[in-house]
Order: sequence, then C-alpha cells, then structure tokens
Amino acid sequence: MWTLLRVRASESPMPRSKPVEPNPAAFLQQEATAPRASEATGFVSLIGAGPGCPDLITIRGLRALQRAQVILFDALLDPAYQEFFPAQAQTLAVGKRCGQASVGQADIHQLMIEHARAGRRVVRLKGGDPLVFGRGGEEAEALEAADVPFEVIPGVSALLAGAAGAGFPLTHRAVSRRITILEGHHLPDSAAAWRDLAASSGTLAVYMGTRTLQSLAQGLLEHGAAPDLPVALVEQAQCPGQTSTFSTLAHAAAGALHPVTAGPGILFIGESLNHRFHPTSEVPHEPAAPVSGSHREARARGGRRERRAS
Ligand code: SAH
Repeated sequence: MWTLLRVRASESPMPRSKPVEPNPAAFLQQEATAPRASEATGFVSLIGAGPGCPDLITIRGLRALQRAQVILFDALLDPAYQEFFPAQAQTLAVGKRCGQASVGQADIHQLMIEHARAGRRVVRLKGGDPLVFGRGGEEAEALEAADVPFEVIPGVSALLAGAAGAGFPLTHRAVSRRITILEGHHLPDSAAAWRDLAASSGTLAVYMGTRTLQSLAQGLLEHGAAPDLPVALVEQAQCPGQTSTFSTLAHAAAGALHPVTAGPGILFIGESLNHRFHPTSEVPHEPAAPVSGSHREARARGGRRERRAS
C-alpha cells in the first residue's frame, strides 16, 4: 500500500509579490533569500562554482561566499575564485587533485559538521553544480543526518557551459526532446543497456568521458546508432582556452577524436549539434588562433578555438 507523502516548503500559501520597479543596485544589496544561520548553530552552503570561471557563479552563491568564515573548496577549482574569498575566512582545498584525494570525503563531511557546530558559516565550493557528479548529495545527506542547517546553491554545470560555449542547443523541438547525462567512467555493461542508449533519441552529454570516448562511440555504433551522428568534444567550456572539436560518431569510433587541451572536457552526441550557432560572446578569455577557419570566422566565434576532427 502506498502512502502519498507531500513535502511542502511552507504550509502557508505563497505570498503574492507586489509589482516593483526594477532596481538592480538595490537587488544586489539585498540579503540572499536563503535561510540564515543562527549565530549559535552555524550554517553550511553547498555552492556550485560554475564551469571554472568565477564570473559564472550565481549572485546568490557569491553572496554566501562573501559571508563565509570557513571555505572548503575543490582542489581543482581555478585559483581565480580565491579573489572572492573574504580575507578573514579560513580556507582549505579539499577533494581530488591529480586523481589523489587531498582530504577524503568522510573528512570533508566531518570538517563541515564541526565548523558549523562551532557556530561558523561554512561554504563548500564545488565545480559546476554540486548535485551533478559532485557528491553534493552525499554531503547534503551527511549534514542532514548531523542536524546541521544547510542550503544548496546551484551552479552552471559543464553540460550547460559546453553547449552555450560551443554553440548548439541541447534540446530542439525537431530533433531532440531529451537529454541523457552519462558518466564516461561507467559505460553500459549489457547489450540491452547499449541498445537503449543507442536508441535514445535526443542529446547525450558525457561527463568524465574523454578517455573512453572511442569505446563509447564504438558501442553506440555496434548497437544501432547512426554513423553520421554529430559529436562534439568541448574542453574548458566557458573558460580561457575553450576548444570545441566537432566530428561524427564514425570518426570518433575510429579514434579520430581526441582531447587537445589538458583541461576538463565534456562530450556531446546528437542531432541537435547540427543546429549550430556562433556566439560572439565577450566572456574574457585569451583570444586564440583558430585551428581551422579564417580570422573573421574566429572573431565571429568570439576568438574561441574550434576544430573539426577528420
Ligand atoms: N559538478 C560538475 C561536474 C564534476 S565531474 C558539473 O556540474 O559540471 C568533472 C567533469 O565535468 C569533468 O571530467 C568534465 O567532464 C566536466 N567538466 C567540468 N568543467 C568543465 C568545463 N569547464 N568544460 C568541459 N567539461 C567540464
């Protein structure tokens, strides 16, 4: 027998907001709408830092960061974020660096809990979004189990940064009504799972997949995906040195698609990649010579590097 459990944020109806004149300056001065820490108990904010450039953190995330007394940040996060840390905050790099955990997950939980119990405002700053392949869910569960008040502030995940940076939609009403997010370290382990994946029309976004991309492409082809399906590998999305390499599933399966930077990369596969556009964004980054195309084309792409794997 099923019991319907309704969880409501509040029992009272949502207050109607009055129409107000837009006033961005006043908005920036407001306190965040997130729950406030009581001085006695402390509080933890799990914050999504975005894809690697500090200007893509949310305003809410930045406000929480600037109020922090303790900051536990991902060791891999760009040092540029540290400019926004309050001078008096105690800071510690945690998580993985070069595949080695500098501070293990259980210790991260412990640190957050102990600092919050000592009455401090703690920020746990994580790359992208905390709840997408970021163990933010485990951290939230640990805080909840310890009765520590916390919030989760979302961040721009690599999936969103990659599509916006390289210039294609993730959904498209004609060709993609679904996004499938995969982790490249764990490819399907049965013929049925491969067939499902190959048949899933829509856009595939593969995190942590630069090492396994050839096996993924081969598996998809063997289980019925179209050889001319477009594939894009977007590296350092929305960051200096962003590079996008466009190819096809057949080329990727043949080993012709490789990462070309040492930075993180996300792989996309699907028809929506055929609906490309060329953003002329002014996101600060070092203009780089295009690997292919004229200077004019490169300027139209905002100076970003773009390649076609052959
Ligand atoms: N929580 C993060 C993902 C962490 S897993 C998020 O929401 O984005 C780390 C993987 O994310 C990397 O291996 C890579 O696949 C992807 N990634 C993170 N930042 C990226 C970036 N700027 N460009 C491309 N891929 C990125």
